[in-house]
Amino acid sequence: MTKLDELSRREFLRLSSVGAAGMTFDANPVYSFLSSAYAASNVQSKQPNCSFTLDGVKSGKVAPQDYLNERIKCVPEAAELQKSGKLKGFLYEPSDEELRARLTEPLSKIKSDKGKLPYLVELAITRYHKSHAELKRQGNVEASIVPTHASVIGKKIPVYVAFTPYRIFHPESNDADVASLIIHELKHVKDTYDGMTLGNIHLSYQNISPKTFRTEFLRNLGELRAEYEELKRIFKERVDTGKVSVSSKYLSKTGFNYAKHWKFIQDYAATELEDKVRKLQFEESKGIASEIKDNKFIIHFDLFGRKTHLAVEGVYNKQNNKQNLDK
Ligand SMILES: [Zn+2]
Repeated sequence: MTKLDELSRREFLRLSSVGAAGMTFDANPVYSFLSSAYAASNVQSKQPNCSFTLDGVKSGKVAPQDYLNERIKCVPEAAELQKSGKLKGFLYEPSDEELRARLTEPLSKIKSDKGKLPYLVELAITRYHKSHAELKRQGNVEASIVPTHASVIGKKIPVYVAFTPYRIFHPESNDADVASLIIHELKHVKDTYDGMTLGNIHLSYQNISPKTFRTEFLRNLGELRAEYEELKRIFKERVDTGKVSVSSKYLSKTGFNYAKHWKFIQDYAATELEDKVRKLQFEESKGIASEIKDNKFIIHFDLFGRKTHLAVEGVYNKQNNKQNLDK
């Protein structure tokens, strides 16, 4: 085994433990998706209207919070969501004191719970730490929304996105990776603020309970929807410009995660409502469909009048997958 083989194999194991619990891979990912555009990837192109770069942050010239504050203005989707009042702001490694100060006002909008405001604030902080601990367990702590608990979903509470050093300082991540992560988190912000509407079903705090719609199913659904937005945007860039700006590592991670969450939604609907939502979500996401074929993950893109696929070679381990997903 050459040193390069060993390195990519190590990286592969890391990646499979990070992004795809229970799925094991025995080969490098193959990106037919990237084949024509590969040369253009990993180019650190400065985004329009952004003056700070991730390189500036990594070299210590720009404070992470300043970089993130500028992203709100220069990633158009973020600016729009902030204008709508749904996105409250971007935070970098907030302390409990900062969270307490920032969450009190948005959570006071829960009218029926006004007497319980201090409790709601503490609950949001606890859940924030819990979701970070969960991300840490999976190996990648990138960002999470706050507040995040099921009881605020659909209550029109403005949401923050809290970022961690992981993606910002990841040696191989670039500005496009951060922009894609932002797109991911913005979908969580919208889904939390408005609830999720699929056909004639509106998922919110009112119908999320262990017997009707489990939080575990909700979590996998939310991730699938967020990763869909990322992959759609990446594919759109490829269709429009022929290039892919996110790093290949970031793309592979997002592809793994999408396939993983797709599989969960496909296999583990346990209630009538979950089953209905599953069908509606797959109909909505059919432009980016995942399948397992000969132990490979294939993500089929059929959007914007164009078709292609992202293939990830590897062995899909059904038993491990169930065990891990059931945790
Ligand atoms: Zn997410």
